[in-house]
Amino acid sequence: MTANIGDTRDGVATRLRRLVTGTFLLLMLVGISGVVAIEVATNQNSKLTNGYTPASNAHQQTLTLMLDSETAVRGYLLTGNQSFLAPYRTARSQILPDLDQTKAALDGVGLRRLDSLIDAERSLATQWLSGYADPIAANPNDSSLPSPARQNAAKVLFDRYRSTNGQVSSQLEQTRARLRADVSRLHSLAIPLLVIATVLALLVAAVLAYRAATGISRPLRALRSVVGRLDRGDLSAHANEQDGPSEVRALARAVNAVGRRARAEAAADRDAEQFRQRSRLISSTLRRSASGAQMAEHLVRGLGDAFEVDRAWLYIFGDERVPQLLAQWQREPLRPLAAPLDYQVSELRALSQRLWDNAHTIGIDDHRTYEPTEAGRTLFGLAQAVGSSASLVLPIGDSAGVLGLIWLAMTGHSRHWTLTEIGVAQFLAADLAHSLTQTHLIQSQADAVRLLQELDQAKADFISTVSHELRTPLTSITGYLEMLRDGDAGRLPRRAHEMLTVIDRNATRLRNLIEDLLTQSRIDAGRLRLELTSVDVAAVLGAVHEAMLPQANADGVQLELVAPSGCKIEADQQQLEQVFTNLVGNACKFTPAGGRITVELLPEQEDGVLIEVSDTGMGIPDEDFDRLFTRFFRAGNAAAAALPGTGLGLAIVREIVHRHGGSVDFHSRLGVGSTFSVWLPQHPPPAA
Ligand code: ADP
Repeated sequence: MTANIGDTRDGVATRLRRLVTGTFLLLMLVGISGVVAIEVATNQNSKLTNGYTPASNAHQQTLTLMLDSETAVRGYLLTGNQSFLAPYRTARSQILPDLDQTKAALDGVGLRRLDSLIDAERSLATQWLSGYADPIAANPNDSSLPSPARQNAAKVLFDRYRSTNGQVSSQLEQTRARLRADVSRLHSLAIPLLVIATVLALLVAAVLAYRAATGISRPLRALRSVVGRLDRGDLSAHANEQDGPSEVRALARAVNAVGRRARAEAAADRDAEQFRQRSRLISSTLRRSASGAQMAEHLVRGLGDAFEVDRAWLYIFGDERVPQLLAQWQREPLRPLAAPLDYQVSELRALSQRLWDNAHTIGIDDHRTYEPTEAGRTLFGLAQAVGSSASLVLPIGDSAGVLGLIWLAMTGHSRHWTLTEIGVAQFLAADLAHSLTQTHLIQSQADAVRLLQELDQAKADFISTVSHELRTPLTSITGYLEMLRDGDAGRLPRRAHEMLTVIDRNATRLRNLIEDLLTQSRIDAGRLRLELTSVDVAAVLGAVHEAMLPQANADGVQLELVAPSGCKIEADQQQLEQVFTNLVGNACKFTPAGGRITVELLPEQEDGVLIEVSDTGMGIPDEDFDRLFTRFFRAGNAAAAALPGTGLGLAIVREIVHRHGGSVDFHSRLGVGSTFSVWLPQHPPPAA
């Protein structure tokens, strides 16, 4: 992201530069004032030390020398002693240079006010020296006194000199005093003023710095708070773009731009989420639909609503996975399209196939700027014929290939298909394909199951009818057989008796088989009811033993019964007989000649009775244990030995025993024998 910094004249750098420059200028001003004050003080001081003091000293010295000269001349004139002239000469040579020095010292510090006075003094001194003293000193041998008039004039001259000297001295003194006062006034004023100026300058600099700092930090703080609010998800936060230096204002504009983008993204996310929500709704509606046609109707209506298009059209070509389907939805006042003609269907199929193979979708934002390929001509011809302005076409299919296609269209204006929309449409198309194929599969399976149930019912009805039809003549056969064996038709030869025994045995087997079939069909039809009475178990076992003995004898197998009498339970006697007939019948069937079968009653076993039917027969292979009680199942060794049987006996045994609230179990070893144990409760549960 880039932010236009904008006008840098009001930037942070400019403000800091202004602050530094202002502070610098102030300090400069204060510094210069200080330097000037010091300079003035120094100047005055130097006038004092370099000018007035030497001038004053030299001037003082002149007076002393003049006085010395006057004393020396007077001493000489009074005494005639030439020794007085020596100091005169010394002083004489010094006087005028001293006066010149005085003047030069004053000129050196620029004070020329006393020049005329000093010149006058010099002139008077020169007049006295040259006009009066020098002639006296020049003639040492002439000690005659000058005339009184001359002496008087010399005295007047000397007094004038002294008076002028006094004026100069007094002027010098006054000037020196004034300079001293100036210097001390400068000292007493300049330093406090300098301090005050410095403090003021620092104060002004501090105020400027404070203003510059707050001018930067306040908008920055406000900006930080806005960024913090944005970070916490408060997208309504807005920075002030008019406050602070240009960089901060540019930053505020950038933050506002980020905020605007975040708000736009949040709005887009909300829209996308709403869109996805509507798509999920379509998905769940699809799953709740009862038929493929209903699904297709829901999908086109849902797509029309969710995508806010003018037309949603769905075509399923129809094959073994899903039957042919056409569903369409359109906004008022648009009219539904006519079903495509055969040649159009084949073109649509080719287009869908191509899209499906390439995992492709066609999104046309504006038909006016789109050139369709050969494969898409039918659809686009159709689209243009009905005035579509924008289209989204996507194939529907599953792992086995394409099933159909969905076409969403706008009329009147262009439309941009977003990636999210295309993704959602593809997801819904996949969902529809899955739901359609599943529904069709489930429907087909349901149809198949119904057909099988009908077939099963027909079979059960047939078995029941046939069994009944078989039982009636069989009852007649066994009745007549018994009469024949009882001699009701006269005495029969022994051979005929033997034949009748075989017939009887097979008739019994046939009856048992028919009973099994009838019981099974009653179980299947839910018509097997328990006729509960108090049953003497030993008597039931005795009856079975008696009925099965001929077969055992015929098979050469020993059949033993160990059943103490007096053991009664509540049960259906006829069904118990069938249970033990089946178990003993199996034992006879699967035990080779010479074997032994034992039927044993063990009364009072856990509030019930236990009956065990053991044999020394062929046994059951381990791998068949699990399925032994399954209807029509026969163990591998029994089937291999081609022993007759239906595989119904044990299933019926278990069903009857369970209905009595009992249980059946077995253990067996291949080639050694098997034992089937039936436990029956004293009283069956109430449900029985
Ligand atoms: P079926 O005897 O008519 O074949 P069952 O349901 O009575 O049908 O028995 C199922 C299978 O269990 C038999 O085919 C046989 O393989 C095995 N079976 C049952 N009883 C015995 C047994 N006493 N000894 C060996 N195998 C047996």
